[in-house]
Amino acid sequence: SRKFIVGGNWKCNPATVREANTLLKEWKKALPNVDKSKVDVVICPPALWMSSLNESIEALGMSTCAQNVGKNDAGAFTGEWTASNLQDINISWTLIGHSERRTKYGESDADVAEKVAKCQDAGLNVILCIGETLEEREGGKTDEVNKRQLGAVIPKVKDWDKIVIAYEPVWAIGTGKVATPDQAEETQAAIRAYLKEAAGAAVADKVRIQYGGSVTRDNCAELITKPNIDGFLVGGASLKPTFMDIVSAVG
Ligand code: 13P
Repeated sequence: SRKFIVGGNWKCNPATVREANTLLKEWKKALPNVDKSKVDVVICPPALWMSSLNESIEALGMSTCAQNVGKNDAGAFTGEWTASNLQDINISWTLIGHSERRTKYGESDADVAEKVAKCQDAGLNVILCIGETLEEREGGKTDEVNKRQLGAVIPKVKDWDKIVIAYEPVWAIGTGKVATPDQAEETQAAIRAYLKEAAGAAVADKVRIQYGGSVTRDNCAELITKPNIDGFLVGGASLKPTFMDIVSAVG
């Protein structure tokens, strides 16, 4: 059985590091409601604050996760950081291929695959984000898109214990239009079936698949009852004190 995992992706929020610290203090009050043996929690603050917040995040029994990582080793790559740089400052997780990186910063499947390869070399845990746009869903291409995005990465993975998949339909991100539990389950079951076909039954059985896109404390309880939903990647609702209600609903 797979351990649940909930991520809080703060994106480029909040406005100040003081607000971030205030939020962490609020969460601390709700910690007694969480069963840590049942759920892993990773928090993705803006990169500038990862180092300064890491200690407070770890004190909550959570891990700090980068939102992105470069595809290169150290060198002349202005604005980037490497997978090894993250390990060096004791950050052992990163998101890769978030739809905002893909659509707003032009990251291709090949870029995503190279980043995953660097993280595997550095021993970094990756949350690999995949998911279709509204146009792709309406065109019946959902499974095809997820297969393409995941398929690009599979040849790069040697250690599946270091990979979590986040299924985040683009039409559900930041829109308030959460996938129905049946929609998310159907798609995530198809992702797991593809994983079985491409990487084997043992891998398909152990890799955790999160759902992301307009998850709130009100809709999370029903979603988490589905067998192929192993947790959530939460955006907007992870910037609130009530994020801990989502964590405790899972754990
Ligand atoms: P929202 O929860 O704000 O829809 O964002 C989801 C997301 O993109 C998490 O990575």
